[in-house]
Amino acid sequence: MKEFWSSRIRGLTPYTPGEQPRERKFIKLNTNENPYPPSPMALSAIRAAADEPLRLYPDPDCTQLREVMAATCGLKPSQVFVGNGSDEVLALCFQAFFDPDRILLFPDVTYSFYPVFAALYGLQYRQVPLDEGFGVPVESFLAPNGGVVLANPNAPTGRALSLCAIRRILEGNPGAVVLVDEAYVDFGAESAVELIDRYPNLVVVQTLSKSRSLAGLRVGFALAQENLIAALNCVKNSFNSYPLDRLALAGAEGALRDPDYFRTTTAQIIATRDRTAARLKTLGFDVCESASNFLFIAHPKAPAKVLLDGLRERGILVRWWDQPRIRNHLRVSVGTQTEMDALYDALSELVR
Ligand SMILES: *Cc1c(COP(=O)(O)O)cnc(C)c1O
Repeated sequence: MKEFWSSRIRGLTPYTPGEQPRERKFIKLNTNENPYPPSPMALSAIRAAADEPLRLYPDPDCTQLREVMAATCGLKPSQVFVGNGSDEVLALCFQAFFDPDRILLFPDVTYSFYPVFAALYGLQYRQVPLDEGFGVPVESFLAPNGGVVLANPNAPTGRALSLCAIRRILEGNPGAVVLVDEAYVDFGAESAVELIDRYPNLVVVQTLSKSRSLAGLRVGFALAQENLIAALNCVKNSFNSYPLDRLALAGAEGALRDPDYFRTTTAQIIATRDRTAARLKTLGFDVCESASNFLFIAHPKAPAKVLLDGLRERGILVRWWDQPRIRNHLRVSVGTQTEMDALYDALSELVR
């Protein structure tokens, strides 16, 4: 096994994405997808783009999409970078901003892709322990470092960090890039985008996968001052000139041009999340305060692995990690109200 693999690749343990079942119909609450369809404007833009011009390469600079995104978040187009999903954008950030001889900091409980990217690029890192309630201990991120990576809201906990805390971390690290992954920001956290003009070391990463219902389209963004965006373009153009195809460019633009649909579906998910959290508490669950489209839950009497298997038997998929500190937790994506009622019924049977 692994004959002919390069020595660097031989040592890697890749990220494991949540299951995408093909044989059976499940209630899918395991990958934080949006239960609502994409905006009709996104879909009609994709259909219109599925035509003769597909013969031609797409715009390598994603000019029009960057203009729309810039207008959406109050930045200049030169402060916007586009990639094939925010996972790709994050990977390019790890390559563009971090050096092997300086230690990277991120929480011990966070998006499990970060240590994978670090290993891929040969970067050293230290996982900073979150406090008892999975809060970010700001002081620990002020120690000398070669970069900070924070998901806000954090995954899989759902907890948000205040802008004030992020500013302290930015100010405590004037010599290193602070990467804020805002995959779930639209569900209740404050975005750090408004800090970009003040902090030359800030990079904010966002995606259309969660709040815009476009996980299948693969569109992510980095937002930062021009100097950092130029570094990302340097890496990208040394790797893949065309990260977004013509359909993705059209669909992404269509989605951003439909703020009403986005606001309505996001508000619905937030309402469902809060109602579900309250109901699960009545079953005895500890529910982490969530600013995202998922809930991180644990039951004092029922082991998470037993609940995971029991839910699966009842046709419901959720996410569980066999990892220190979170072995007794489940991460449950917020689906439709009907799906969450089914989850509640199944869990009330299982914890009884
Ligand atoms: C889902 C997720 C992403 C990746 O999103 P894509 O844009 O679909 O690649 C990035 N960061 C976190 C924390 C996520 O949960």
